[in-house]
Amino acid sequence: MNCQPLTAFFPFIAIVTTGTMLGINGAMELLFKVITPYSKRHYERPATEFLMLDKDLSNSRRAVNRGYLGELLRLYQDWHRNDVSNNYIYIRRGLLLCLKYITNIQLGRETFLGSRGMEILFTSVQDCLSCKNLDPIITTATHILRKCYPKEHLPVVTVRSSYSFPLPGNASAEPPCDSESEGEEEDEKDWDNEDVESKEEDCDLETDVNKLRSRPALDRPEQELEKYEALCAELFQNFQSEEKKSLEDRTESLPSAPSHFIPSATSVKHPNCRWRNQSVTEMGPDPGEQDFKVPLQSWRKKEECIWDKNDENRDIAEKAQDKDFCEEEDPARSHVFALCSLLKDATWYKKVFYPHCEASINPSPEGRLESSDMVRNLLEKHQGDIPFHSPCFYAARAKCVKSIPGYRELAFPDFWGHQPPPYSKPVLERKHGLQRDKVLDDVRRLIQPGDVIGRTVFDLDDPSPAAPGCLTFFSKFESGNLRKAIQVREFEYDLIMNADVNSSQHHQWFYFEVRDMKSAVPYRFNIINCEKLNSQFNYGMQLVMYSVREALQGRPRWTRAGQEICYYKNHYRCRSAAAGGGVRRRFYYTLTFSIKFPHKDDVCYLAYHYPYTYSTMMSHLDILEQNRNPKKVYWRQQTLCQTLGGNPCPLLTITAMPESKNRDHLEQFCNRPYVFLTARVHPGESNASWVMKGTLEFLVSSDPIAELLRKCFIFKIVPMLNPDGVINGNLRCSLSGDDLNRQWLTPSSQLHPTIYHAKGLLYYLSSIGRAPLVFCDYHGHSQKKNVFLYGCSIKETLWQAGCMVDTAVVTEDVGYRTLPKILDKVAPAFVMNSCSFLVEKSRASTARVVVWKEMGVLRSYTMESTYCSCSHGLYRVRIMKPCASLHQGLQLGTQELEEMGSKFCLGLLILHLKSLPCSKELMAQAALLLDLEEEITDRAQRSKEDLVM
Ligand SMILES: [Zn+2]
Repeated sequence: MNCQPLTAFFPFIAIVTTGTMLGINGAMELLFKVITPYSKRHYERPATEFLMLDKDLSNSRRAVNRGYLGELLRLYQDWHRNDVSNNYIYIRRGLLLCLKYITNIQLGRETFLGSRGMEILFTSVQDCLSCKNLDPIITTATHILRKCYPKEHLPVVTVRSSYSFPLPGNASAEPPCDSESEGEEEDEKDWDNEDVESKEEDCDLETDVNKLRSRPALDRPEQELEKYEALCAELFQNFQSEEKKSLEDRTESLPSAPSHFIPSATSVKHPNCRWRNQSVTEMGPDPGEQDFKVPLQSWRKKEECIWDKNDENRDIAEKAQDKDFCEEEDPARSHVFALCSLLKDATWYKKVFYPHCEASINPSPEGRLESSDMVRNLLEKHQGDIPFHSPCFYAARAKCVKSIPGYRELAFPDFWGHQPPPYSKPVLERKHGLQRDKVLDDVRRLIQPGDVIGRTVFDLDDPSPAAPGCLTFFSKFESGNLRKAIQVREFEYDLIMNADVNSSQHHQWFYFEVRDMKSAVPYRFNIINCEKLNSQFNYGMQLVMYSVREALQGRPRWTRAGQEICYYKNHYRCRSAAAGGGVRRRFYYTLTFSIKFPHKDDVCYLAYHYPYTYSTMMSHLDILEQNRNPKKVYWRQQTLCQTLGGNPCPLLTITAMPESKNRDHLEQFCNRPYVFLTARVHPGESNASWVMKGTLEFLVSSDPIAELLRKCFIFKIVPMLNPDGVINGNLRCSLSGDDLNRQWLTPSSQLHPTIYHAKGLLYYLSSIGRAPLVFCDYHGHSQKKNVFLYGCSIKETLWQAGCMVDTAVVTEDVGYRTLPKILDKVAPAFVMNSCSFLVEKSRASTARVVVWKEMGVLRSYTMESTYCSCSHGLYRVRIMKPCASLHQGLQLGTQELEEMGSKFCLGLLILHLKSLPCSKELMAQAALLLDLEEEITDRAQRSKEDLVM
């Protein structure tokens, strides 16, 4: 194309841009005059360009009515066929852009479908796929195909949860989701909405100074607070009968399990309670990485940060291990191996782990005896392999759980335990054009319906025997979530997640079992009812997988898994009644991934993120209590309240035992400031529980820092604010269908008991002048990287909103910034730059805002942990490629999350030293510890320098 005709058309462009006077119809008429079929081509480019400038929807409607759409399609087809040497890509793309705008309206999309637009574009794209130059054409065509794909309802009877729970009183759950009648216009502009979100955030800022400063009145009668005295026994403790008392507490909290289920203290292997990275400190930290004088417990971790650059290598290595394993004659191992081989027939597994079912199928006492022997043998072999986990404790706790579906089965990974692998995986690199390929694959279902199997193979609402020759799915276990599985093609399944109990939304969390797989075949899974606009799955995050065979061969672990992962808007729609009575259109998104299972006929589990169930937490608390040093660690486990579902919500009190019974020591004990920690109000945020696990293990450990920390604070901890949600596989809500982290302003004692009583306890502490120094609620963030804090600042909020701040009126202690600054230095996953201290209107009823405002806690935070990786710091590494090296974040594992929990504790100690008056003794001890660490640091650094020299 020469530029002569282009300049000739500049005037046209000018006219159109200044006024759009021509309208799309005038433009179209002109276009058809200018762009003639391929054979008579001339002056094409300007015409298509100016047409693109006009995006007026009403004009589009008239254009469709005049039949221009069909003509555009024919024209496009003609150019596509004839432009074999791809000289006129811009014309072809220009025509597609015209189609793109016209199909922004419903009428356009209908006409497009009626004109066989889907077939025409789909077929033409197939011809283009092999040529990279044609990317712009493929992308635009795919966009149109995706938009015009006929909208459908989800293939479920109702989008409401399969699980419902009758609420106490007259409370009614969220109104049901209506079936959809297709609306007039559909705004399809939300392809990249990250910008939109950040703009919305700014409008959401609370700019009313009075609202920011006011302290609301008590939400309950004052005399009610007295009852919380019972949850603060440490303030009234005389320590005369302490040992007897704690024994009583313990008996109260234990489940009514047969005693032989609880192994003796010695049988839970657990060499010492030190944080496991603590023991090896011979390696020094990276010079200049951290300038705080604190112990760097991750020194060893740095050495251990072996990410597998190449999955293949690891696969080979592990295959070799498997081989060794089979050939080995170790009798102890061959015993396990014999059991493994039984996996070929998965019924052995059912027998062993689902004895209830087995009992009903085959009541033979011999069979049952045999299976319990197997379990015992297996446990004998494996018990204690995983620190802070006991399968027996787990089973005992799980038996007492009250769930809506009445779970009778345990998921193997939760029972058996998880031990993090000795390597971390960098984020997954995304193949070029991956999403496009997946969308085209979806469109193919419409064009070639003969290929589609469309067979339901799992349905929570209609349990029937699994179909032969395909995967078998299962999800009825704690935290399980899968509602339906439909086989689409031989190795492809559409999956539907269950909504939160008593709700018709909140889909993101999934956790299910799959078996009867072939090996070395990639299976494609599409989770088709995701709701978030975007996902870290588009930025390198992988899901997690657990293989029972791998576990029995000595690798009991969740690993990051899945290839060809992407997340995109699909053609399923739902209209639901929104708050305020309006109708809100709901879009669904597809998460697609491929998995090659490591073994044939294995039993595998797939989950959104490392699962952490209620029973995991309860049995973890049992182990911690049993293994603490009672002379040093004051530990009290009480029940904060019962949940709606009838499960106890534990409250922990942890501090140091007083040094002696003399008055000074007892006084020091009582007067320690409080730290109040909570986690897992949102059930889908299992990462928060792993962080909490790290905090708890560190707090009761014999680490000298932990000892010091216990002398500084009394910790009040609610490790799981939403047990029912976690148990029943919810993403966000409790059984009432409410987001519990939006109930803190006026929690209902009936509907939100855990929030009501957590707040009551905080009120009580505040009423006796003992409001906590720090409040922190642990969460997971599905859209962001890193670990960071949200806090509350009046000034920062007003500044951000562009309000003038009268500093004489608004005074504010900037102490809320100290802890995050410390964490930025001591915790490798923590990033200060990701923190925010803005108070948003929409967050007025969250824990951090309410505790800040109503209890006057300056350091009131939400701690957010990524599900994915870090964009800064130690967990971002350089990866060598054949042609270059690049920096990539490592996907966080449970080890990094637990480490974050322990570093948070270290941060608290430093905060104490920096912000509070300390006794000489305490300062001396701290100085000794921290200096010692500094000395080690220096020494290590020196030896490193020696090496360099
Ligand atoms: Zn959350």
